[in-house]
Amino acid sequence: MPPLPNSIEARDIAFHLHPYTNARRHEEIGPIVMAKGDGVYVEDVDGKRYIEAMAGLWSVAVGFSEKRLVEAASRQMAELPYYHAFTHKTHAPVVDLAEKLIQLAPVPMSKVHFTNSGSEANDLIVKLLRYRANGMGEPHRKKIISRLRGYHGVTLASASLTGLPNNHRSFDLPMEGILHTTCPHHWREAHEGESEEAFATRCADDLEAMIAAEGPETIAAFIAEPLMGAGGVVVPPATYWEKVQAVLRRHDILLVADEVICGFGRTGEMFGSTYYDMKPDIMTVSKALSSSYLPISAVLVNERVYGPIADESAKIGTFGHGFTTSGHPVAAAVALENLKIIEERDLVANARERGVRLQAGLRTLSDHPLVGEVRGVGLIAGVELVTDKKARIAVQPPGALAARAFGLIQERGVISRAIGDTLAFCPPLIIDDSQIDTIVETVRLGLDELAGEMGMGR
Ligand code: PMP
Repeated sequence: MPPLPNSIEARDIAFHLHPYTNARRHEEIGPIVMAKGDGVYVEDVDGKRYIEAMAGLWSVAVGFSEKRLVEAASRQMAELPYYHAFTHKTHAPVVDLAEKLIQLAPVPMSKVHFTNSGSEANDLIVKLLRYRANGMGEPHRKKIISRLRGYHGVTLASASLTGLPNNHRSFDLPMEGILHTTCPHHWREAHEGESEEAFATRCADDLEAMIAAEGPETIAAFIAEPLMGAGGVVVPPATYWEKVQAVLRRHDILLVADEVICGFGRTGEMFGSTYYDMKPDIMTVSKALSSSYLPISAVLVNERVYGPIADESAKIGTFGHGFTTSGHPVAAAVALENLKIIEERDLVANARERGVRLQAGLRTLSDHPLVGEVRGVGLIAGVELVTDKKARIAVQPPGALAARAFGLIQERGVISRAIGDTLAFCPPLIIDDSQIDTIVETVRLGLDELAGEMGMGR
């Protein structure tokens, strides 16, 4: 049914170019208009309620109706709605939040710099690595190694770090000096009979071969998500991080942990780096930092990174970087309150405990005719769909199968996300057991319906 003239739907089609949307298709089908949030639920303008099993975009840790965040924002708005941190100015919320992040960090970190999105934070890291290399008198050391299917954002530099074709195609990316090594997805990439450990060794060897081919002295850093999210929820194989970190240490290459999804409890530990025993020199955080109630992100750097940058800024006369809204006081106040809630309610433990139920529940779908692999850790999971289980392939075009499954599951009241042919799940950290059971049951019903449509019923 075409939208009514002057409705939100019609005006959205008329005026709004959407992120991550097929623009021409949007002109035909229009939007779903969300109106309200309530705990793990969102409600559209027609009153249909959904479990938001993606926490928005992997981000709303405390749910969609946390009054304490509203009050924190309102208090700060009334007190000092805006100030910046340029040229030696500061304000209490940004200092409190920086101190809090240093306290929470899984390894000793020295300084925090605030940005507004994960993309901006990772973009800044590319700049920081250049600045540091120049500061150290090693101007050749500027290449960065990322991974195929890694996701680090969409600005020119962060989209280049991202290892996904859709973020490069027609944008003339990636930029020079950014390389992509093997995606550590055992089920997809391992050879027949290759164990997780053997595959992890091969991933580390691939990385080392790339470093040797480029020249170790030209590589500034390796950037990775502890476990990949937007590339399709890829859990690294056993021993991966141990072996990769050994390679980085051998060649004195910095490790950047992109904790934008994993940070603040997602894996059942405070950080993905804790879960995988990673020792990053630089960390990116965002999303669950403020539960995305307001835009804020941060880059944490250790002394090895900070020292040369500070020296270089002294030499030049200033650190020539900063946004009008870097360390925005209202966003910082909301983030602080959000972190307080995560700690007070022990949402990290909730993620760990409810995560066991989510992982086990989704794994009961493993024998479904349309399910190739179920993977995940804590409250993040992926269900990869196939039509040929043996060949591990889905019908053409790529993504069509999961898109249909996503639609059927959404009609039944659960919002997931289709990434290629993988359905992703990443619910708010406040989720309870019965809501997890509803997600699993709804996915089962949706997949059964899809199998029925395709004449593949059980
Ligand atoms: N890094 C990771 C790991 C992410 O998942 C994302 C967003 N999905 C980003 C960076 C980019 O963050 P933003 O969308 O806030 O720019």
